[in-house]
Amino acid sequence: MTGIETALLADEPAILSDLMDYCRIASVSTDPAFAPEIARAADFVAEELRRAGFPVVERIETGGHPAVYAERCDVPGAPTVLVYGHYDVQPPDPLEAWASPPFEPTLLDDRLYARGVSDDKAPLLIAIKVAAAFARLRGGLPVNMKFLIEDEEETGSPHFAPTVARLRDRLACDVVLSADGAMWRADLPSVMVAGRGLVAFEVRLSGAGKDLHSGRHGGSAPNPIRALARMLAALHDDEGRVIVPGFAEGASAPDPAILEAIRHADFDAAAYFAGIGAALPDPLPDAETLLRRQWLEPTLEFNGISGGYGGAGTKTVIPSDARVKITCRLVAGQTPDRVARALEAELRRLTPTGYRLEFTRHGPGSAAFALDPADPALHLAEEVLGEVLGAAPLRVAMGATIPIPDVFRRELGVGTVFFSFSTADEDYHAPNEFFRLSSLRRGLVAWARLLDRLGGMPAAALRGKAGA
Ligand SMILES: [Zn+2]
Repeated sequence: MTGIETALLADEPAILSDLMDYCRIASVSTDPAFAPEIARAADFVAEELRRAGFPVVERIETGGHPAVYAERCDVPGAPTVLVYGHYDVQPPDPLEAWASPPFEPTLLDDRLYARGVSDDKAPLLIAIKVAAAFARLRGGLPVNMKFLIEDEEETGSPHFAPTVARLRDRLACDVVLSADGAMWRADLPSVMVAGRGLVAFEVRLSGAGKDLHSGRHGGSAPNPIRALARMLAALHDDEGRVIVPGFAEGASAPDPAILEAIRHADFDAAAYFAGIGAALPDPLPDAETLLRRQWLEPTLEFNGISGGYGGAGTKTVIPSDARVKITCRLVAGQTPDRVARALEAELRRLTPTGYRLEFTRHGPGSAAFALDPADPALHLAEEVLGEVLGAAPLRVAMGATIPIPDVFRRELGVGTVFFSFSTADEDYHAPNEFFRLSSLRRGLVAWARLLDRLGGMPAAALRGKAGA
């Protein structure tokens, strides 16, 4: 261990005390009632960055809650690292389900319980405290370092992409390290290298110009529910795979390391179905197939369907329209635009004569994220995680969508390496959120080591390796 690493571990009580102060701030972003707490959290983070020796620390207006930006770029030739994190938290409700009050951080069994401690207060504070230790003990950082800490992650980051676009020049860097994101499982070191994109649609199919009596008109009038059900049933094959022509156009082959991880992930297919309360399918797909489908294949899911009468009793009606909400998860290489075009074209082709189709897309959506398997910063991160966690991390993908890496790739042309020390089982977004203090210790050592190793690499070696 380096002197910095030893010093950070020795400093654990003070760091923990600051973390507890940070967790006492109820920085819930979605509810305007918490606005004063948001301001306090922004001040707290800014003050920590100033104490860590950052000469530039600013509040950035975004049109929503402000972001906090800091930079210290005084190491010529060394890489520039942009650290991403967020200082907002989810609402603590339901309060009665908490064993200790959500904004009174409580230590129990080497864990700290508080709303936001795992997502993302402890993982972010680790990065700041490591920078502070370098400043204090070595008089400077091993790399050029910038921080962009937003406050709207828990509300879908509505102002994030335009803010990054506007600050493109100031945010220029060689790699993004995300202090947000989580390890897949507590018992298995992993690094997340891919996540699916997302695009959302609403479809309305109309028949007659008004609702009709099903006795008087049944058998002769168009029934949009019947027609829509047939159309939707034609979008997947018997195994649930999307068969819309052009839907997967451009999709690229997954990182072979992820396929390797899937083979070694020890995933129990039967337990999966039991866990979601579903009957076991026959035949039961093997674990590899299931994980491939969760992580690496595109989806088209119907999220809600409506039309006609859904209330108590019966109503003899033929509705004038039927609607469905659809979201698609995209894999690397697919784009929201192409998927939208393919789906609309297929639905128009499937629309029977006598019906009208309205196809609406909700928002721009986001492309999938897939880090370049050869990214040098990823390799350094894996090396450090292997040393600190005691086993080489598996490269894993995620079925869900994190839009941040796509924004950084588009606007800054760089990849995002997830380097968070929270774990997916730490009940973030739920009552009794906690963070393991063992992860605090490992995180401090790992961040210090990673920054040191990045500092030993010429900036040019990292550049041009944008996440694909
Ligand atoms: Zn988060």
